[in-house]
Amino acid sequence: MRAEIIATGTELLLGQIVNTNARFLAEKLAEKGIDVYWQTVVGDNPLRLEEAFRLALSRADLVLSSGGLGPTADDITKETLAKVMGLPLEPHAGWQEYLEQLFSRRPGFRMPPSNRKQALLPRGARLIANENGTAPGIWVEKEGKIVVLMPGPPRELEPMFTKHVMPLLPETGSIIMSRVLKITGLGESLMEELVSDLVRAQTNPTIAPLARQNESHLRISAKAKSREECLRLLAATEEKLLARLGEHVFARDEETMEEVVAGLLMAKKYTLAVAESCTGGLLAHTLTNVPGSSAFFLSGLVTYSNAAKERLLHVPSSLLAEKGAVSAEVAQAMAGNARELAHSTLGVGITGIAGPDGGSPEKPVGLVYIALATPEDVRVKRFNFFGKRENIKERAVLAALNMIRLYLIRQTG
Ligand code: ATP
Ligand code: MG
Repeated sequence: MRAEIIATGTELLLGQIVNTNARFLAEKLAEKGIDVYWQTVVGDNPLRLEEAFRLALSRADLVLSSGGLGPTADDITKETLAKVMGLPLEPHAGWQEYLEQLFSRRPGFRMPPSNRKQALLPRGARLIANENGTAPGIWVEKEGKIVVLMPGPPRELEPMFTKHVMPLLPETGSIIMSRVLKITGLGESLMEELVSDLVRAQTNPTIAPLARQNESHLRISAKAKSREECLRLLAATEEKLLARLGEHVFARDEETMEEVVAGLLMAKKYTLAVAESCTGGLLAHTLTNVPGSSAFFLSGLVTYSNAAKERLLHVPSSLLAEKGAVSAEVAQAMAGNARELAHSTLGVGITGIAGPDGGSPEKPVGLVYIALATPEDVRVKRFNFFGKRENIKERAVLAALNMIRLYLIRQTG
């Protein structure tokens, strides 16, 4: 079965929005083992859209379309397809009633006449429910071809496709599933070196390294007859990779470093206080992005100036004068005092030079000291990060989170 994805919208052609619908649909079809041979983007123009549908129907068996199902005059996808397939549009009584009820529930609202057009379906088409909007999806089958029209907003298209369209798609006898392992603390090339023989030897699953901004990813993709078989293949390859990369793998798939750290802290019922200088509160921000962070996050101090480090964090002025604000000793004092002042289990201190100015031969831009105070000791690490100011801040935060993670997973019990 050959599939084509048609995304409609002049905004897409102008580069004003990214075609995430095509990416989403392509990934889902791959999971189903359906090959996507073409992806088309076309503006809200009746003639060119008509051409796109004719071409797609001439070469693909399954055509998935996104966008242009809204109530306004520039929403023309359904009308155009009906014309191409030679099917008249007819009102769907059920959806019309549904829309009227939807509008009558909002006091003072009457259904605008333009919405009535959303209850029109090509003759013989199947209606696909939309729980997140007023435009239904449409499934049309004619002469061995399947066309599915879906609304443009991803928050409507994605659940509609997963819940209602996926189960209707024909079985191909093989599916593809993938999993991403996220790696930190190892450079991209070092990681590749550790696993290159596995990458070369694997055909199913395949392993593909992907460089990300501050971390490295390995994508494992397996093809098999069933979901269970795919999962078995993925697990076996994941195990081999974990044996090589060990603690450097910090998360899988959509999971983030902060979620992992938050999960570990909550599982141990530990609390945390942070003191930041060059990261300007980004560590506190990142940790408090995790829902439920109040269970472990006690406080974050941004002590940017020396005076603030002295007054708010009680870092001795002699230490600041002797070692400088960017030093292992000051990072340790920040972490230790943050922990003591907040009565938390752990404390973090970050101090460094984010640049672009302020570097010197002894203390170059990107030099960052990160300290972690625990009930046992105050450990400190020195980092030399590359990149722009914002990037150095992000890298420092990831490294700090990784220090917390490693401390927690290396603890016994
Ligand atoms: P509406 O009823 O909102 O008009 P629609 O089905 O007519 O929905 P469009 O008008 O084409 O869809 O797009 C509506 C919005 O959906 C766009 O402004 C954009 O934010 C988002 N969108 C559309 N197409 C895509 C796409 N291919 N990828 C990601 N987002 C998209
Ligand atoms: Mg629209």
